[in-house]
Amino acid sequence: MRSQAIRSRIVVPVGKPPIENGAVVINGSRITAVSPWEELPRPRQEAVTDLGEVILLPGFINCHCHLDYTEMAGMIPRLQHFADWIKAIIAIKATWSYTEFAKSWITGAHMLEQSGVTSVVDIEAVPELLPEVWNATPLRLWSCLELINVKSPDTATSMVKSARQKAHELETQHTNHCGLSPHALYTASDDLLQQAEITARAESRLLTTHVAESSEEDAMYHSATGPLYQWLRSQGRLEHSGEGSPISILDQLGYFNSPVIAAHVNYLAPNDPHILAAHGVTAVHCPRSHHYFGHDAFPWQRLNEAGVNITLGTDSLASIGKVGGDIPRLDFFAEFASLAATDKAPPPHKALKWATTNAAKAIHQENELGQLSPGFLADIIAIPYAGTIGAAVEAIVGYRGSVAAAMIHGRWIIQDGDNIRHQTWSLCLNISPGNLRPFRINISSGNSDRSPAPKP
Ligand SMILES: [Zn+2]
Repeated sequence: MRSQAIRSRIVVPVGKPPIENGAVVINGSRITAVSPWEELPRPRQEAVTDLGEVILLPGFINCHCHLDYTEMAGMIPRLQHFADWIKAIIAIKATWSYTEFAKSWITGAHMLEQSGVTSVVDIEAVPELLPEVWNATPLRLWSCLELINVKSPDTATSMVKSARQKAHELETQHTNHCGLSPHALYTASDDLLQQAEITARAESRLLTTHVAESSEEDAMYHSATGPLYQWLRSQGRLEHSGEGSPISILDQLGYFNSPVIAAHVNYLAPNDPHILAAHGVTAVHCPRSHHYFGHDAFPWQRLNEAGVNITLGTDSLASIGKVGGDIPRLDFFAEFASLAATDKAPPPHKALKWATTNAAKAIHQENELGQLSPGFLADIIAIPYAGTIGAAVEAIVGYRGSVAAAMIHGRWIIQDGDNIRHQTWSLCLNISPGNLRPFRINISSGNSDRSPAPKP
């Protein structure tokens, strides 16, 4: 069994107070000790890596991402209406090939690796890319297969059945996981939501959905008004319009019988936080996407007071604006910065918890990930730091740039700021702008590189 000790100026285990001149000892893929360096029993047998002036901490868990949209960065300007953004992304998707989606997915995964993310809940609009793209990254993936049935000829039963089959097939080929992601109350029918929930619960799969994201969604369900309502009316999708808050409607459908990961949760009726808390629903806040759409302030205090588990996500680069004309990157530190720039931002220790222990709970890995603690998996990152122990947590959420080092499952993926490319995940790395080739896919309709017709 490979054994190693890593020393650093500061260790921030997250579950416990920071440690000065700390050490993390690893055996194989798991942490066996976290302590001050001088308290490690001597003599030590394992190899020692002294990372020096850095903070060691658990890797971040990104609870909401769309890797396949990464290269849509900067393509959609800020639009007046949320419904217009949906129409714009549908139009782009209609022109993209599988190769473009695959390249986009892999590019996004590498950006996340560099920004300290080690686990991702990803929404897969193009499940045909799996499992090949999984092999291009060491990230731990919870790939949630997106389900939309606006104008779809397929029944909810057949959609959930084929997603289930796909999930089973993928999980026999890889250690990554599959979940289900009915897109939203307004794009998934009641029976699709309910059947996905029953399947997710029966098979212990993650279930995630966009919930109460925009004021337009709120207006549609509260008063049957607004641009989203108008557009969905033209698509023949009017269920529940004017009935109340989307959270109360999902609750009445029994959707929260599973501990759903609800993306966004920006607009709350008075009782909504209690509904979410009572069912163990997690809320995912995506600060830069939130800013891009100009939503009302994220009501984290109300969620927090009710006891709702809150986490962070990046969302996709299709909904993150350019910064001073620059194309944005997927960057977890930029999400922390965007969060910190808001009025009544959570304190740094809370933001760090959202990205680690709370996120681990959301993906049912609270005894495996999100902390540096004996018995936990060795998913560790390091950021440069020469300051005091008292300011270490503030320095983590205030950091800008790439991580100095990163490890997943006890294996270094970044050292000295450079990615290490292990053979096992190099399969797709030769996809680059000058080296485009059709993405090899296995779909029953043939070997076309064209992506399926966009939905909805
Ligand atoms: Zn999303």
